[in-house]
Amino acid sequence: MTKHTITPQPGAILGDAHTCDCGVHLADRMTAEVHAAEHQQCTVCLGSAEELVAPGLSRGCTACAGTGGRREQITWQLAHTEAERLITMSVVRGVVGDLDGPFHLSHIADLVRAGLGLQAGRLPVGPRVRDLLLELQGAGEITMLSAPDELIDGTDVVLYRDPQWQRVRTLGL
Ligand SMILES: [Zn+2]
Ligand SMILES: [Zn+2]
Repeated sequence: MTKHTITPQPGAILGDAHTCDCGVHLADRMTAEVHAAEHQQCTVCLGSAEELVAPGLSRGCTACAGTGGRREQITWQLAHTEAERLITMSVVRGVVGDLDGPFHLSHIADLVRAGLGLQAGRLPVGPRVRDLLLELQGAGEITMLSAPDELIDGTDVVLYRDPQWQRVRTLGL
């Protein structure tokens, strides 16, 4: 079976040319994505299973859960939609409202997973809960206590692996 892992062509300054392991030359990103889909590769990482977070730093592709496969990508897309439907702002706000001290993202994700009776690993609970906690943070209901776990040299990228927040106390109920 021919592999169809697609990689950006080194030195391609103009345009966005890619080449595939099967030898095909792909003129731009769009063509590369079509070729990836035709051969059951993830259209985000183009089958490499990795995504570039910053120059020189890559991690497992979040779109296909690090598999590089189109089928996994579609399954994971559905799982994301399902997570958005099940895990609403009121669910997360309810969980956070019961806590007094600081809390970690992983702790809230565990409580939400348990509260909804979700099996571990079936839905992207962590990323969904993180997005909602960031919304609460934006609304001023909680503040982040964590320092970044990693600063990527020469970029604006900071990574938080398991950030910690605390509820903002409102004076005079
Ligand atoms: Zn190919
Ligand atoms: Zn991927």
